[in-house]
Amino acid sequence: MNIKDYILVIAEKPKSAEKIAYALGNPKKYRINGVPVWFVMRGTSRFVIAPAAGHLYTLHTESKGFPVFDYKWVPKYIVEPESIFTRKYLNVLSMLAKNAKEYINACDYDIEGSLIGYMIIKNIGDIKRSKRAKFSSLTASEIVRAFNNLLPLDYNMIEAGYCRHILDWLWGINVSRMLMSIYRSVFNEKRILSAGRVQSPTLSYVVNIDLQRKTHVPVPYAYPSIKIFIDNKIFKLIPIDSPFNSLSDAKEYLENIKRDPRATVLDIIVRDERIEPPHPFNLPDLQSEAHRIYGFTPYKTQKLAEDLYLEALISYPRTNSQKLPPTLNNREILEKLSQNIVYRTLVKTLLAETRGILRPNNGPKEDPAHPAIYPTGEGTLKGLSKDHIKLYDLIVRRYLATFANPAVVQYVRIEFIVHGRRYYLSTNIVRSRGWLQYYPYIHFNGEEISLKLLRKGLQIPIHEAKIVIHFTKPPHLPSKISLVKWMEEKGIGTEATRAEIVETLFKRGYLYMRGRGSGVSELGILISFLLKDYVEELISVELTRKFEERLNMILNMKAKCDDIVEEAKEMLLKYINRVKSLDIQTLRAEISKYIEMSDNNGRRCMICKRSVYANNLCIFHNIALENIRSAYETWRKFGFSWTQYLEKLLKLKSTGSYVKEVCRHLIKQGEF
Ligand SMILES: [Zn+2]
Repeated sequence: MNIKDYILVIAEKPKSAEKIAYALGNPKKYRINGVPVWFVMRGTSRFVIAPAAGHLYTLHTESKGFPVFDYKWVPKYIVEPESIFTRKYLNVLSMLAKNAKEYINACDYDIEGSLIGYMIIKNIGDIKRSKRAKFSSLTASEIVRAFNNLLPLDYNMIEAGYCRHILDWLWGINVSRMLMSIYRSVFNEKRILSAGRVQSPTLSYVVNIDLQRKTHVPVPYAYPSIKIFIDNKIFKLIPIDSPFNSLSDAKEYLENIKRDPRATVLDIIVRDERIEPPHPFNLPDLQSEAHRIYGFTPYKTQKLAEDLYLEALISYPRTNSQKLPPTLNNREILEKLSQNIVYRTLVKTLLAETRGILRPNNGPKEDPAHPAIYPTGEGTLKGLSKDHIKLYDLIVRRYLATFANPAVVQYVRIEFIVHGRRYYLSTNIVRSRGWLQYYPYIHFNGEEISLKLLRKGLQIPIHEAKIVIHFTKPPHLPSKISLVKWMEEKGIGTEATRAEIVETLFKRGYLYMRGRGSGVSELGILISFLLKDYVEELISVELTRKFEERLNMILNMKAKCDDIVEEAKEMLLKYINRVKSLDIQTLRAEISKYIEMSDNNGRRCMICKRSVYANNLCIFHNIALENIRSAYETWRKFGFSWTQYLEKLLKLKSTGSYVKEVCRHLIKQGEF
């Protein structure tokens, strides 16, 4: 190839390079060393469009040991064996960069895409002769618009991305090396262990819930169960007041009912409620709904959405925005959507009932880089999997729904009083479907309650009354989606990274799937407790969020990368030097608190092989024992003797595993 004077366009991936090439004109495709490259004339300008493969550069150090603060950016394929495939992309780009007269970064428009293109141009091109293309979807019109309005390089986004990588790298390598060094000195064995700035607080959250479950002692409470007839239908009243904490109080109440079995109507509330249409999707909302409706994990949803984006079917999915911009031509999108037979009638209905006035119900969340996720009306679903189509359908329906009229739901609530305790019945009936026609995934309809015979003060005979004993339950093990939501709620990680961080915890073997929840492995527990004991502040949600906020401040130039990195270094140094000064005996004693060690010379727990913490038990069995003791007071009020109590705990499903082990031990010992 012997051409010069061309503009080199760098795309994030081959698929997006192809879309860009076809949007710009009539491209010719070549393959250079297996990498697809497109040549296209646009007016008098010659463009060469070549793909990266995500990040081509990464951080690396040659220093051994820790703390380590010297790093440099190097081509990824040199230091990561699993990234060897990126070598050919970098080689082809280097070759093309030599003769290019200008460079355009056309990677996805977010901090990662800005950094990917910047690192390439900086290392093999010339940043002085470069521009940025900003687009939110890969449709031809959007790409052409971006190329007609090229921007200078977006240094704020580059610096934010750059800083995030450095911060994550410094944190990860130092804390991981610290963990590995502790492990090696105690177990005389090398093991790859990893920690992460956002990953570790998340692990710690799961470990905490896991421990609550394992040390959970169910506590009894009693609720009256009362049934009445309304218009020949049986209804079970739902209690409003708090339950009975002693069996004698509950029995006395039941006696009162038997003597005078009547419920009095306290109040009847009937009102129509307008339920506004849903907001346009951002990535967290899409992940949450795709999980609720189709059971997709957040990571799966993100991958599927990225594929739909690369097919130009939807706008850029890694967005936090719940707003559709006023400049978006919704009318045109609806017309294109109506060419798909599946949506034709829906679009027609929507245009009729809104009289063509398309106002989205925008939500409060914003994203400086992208609007909310919307279907482009273009692209083809041919060749896509069933799951891709399900997700696309969800996005289209949500988009349609946000323009639609509110749904009207009639809400009925009847309150009763029975011997001084309040109860209620409630139901919802959809009166006007509104947006529910387009997005039918929310169910309001309940059982109809006939109001014709009811009035305030009416006394209704009680059909059946009894006392039901319930037991408190431990918290659920969090599912992948609830972990992503937890991170979002705490303000740690970004919408683009959260799902992947959760996957990493599973890949490292710290978490594993247990039913629909996340179980924690022994290794996950050990890592989490070591971090908690030695670098607690570093894995705190508060510090992690503080750094996230600082990183976001780079975007509007309110913070500088160098300052943030310096601050992080200081924090790391403070903690790591403390750990480095610990001797092996101390470390051994520490680890034997959490895992069963074969060569633990100290005193052992009476139940397991961990070292003794208190009461001749390890730290975990001791928590279980304390919980058993403190819960007994309530059980006594329900007529249980100590032995009956322990035996009952062994039978209940919600009793934690450590608690059951302690119960067995206490029964065997005959301890009272
Ligand atoms: Zn133990």
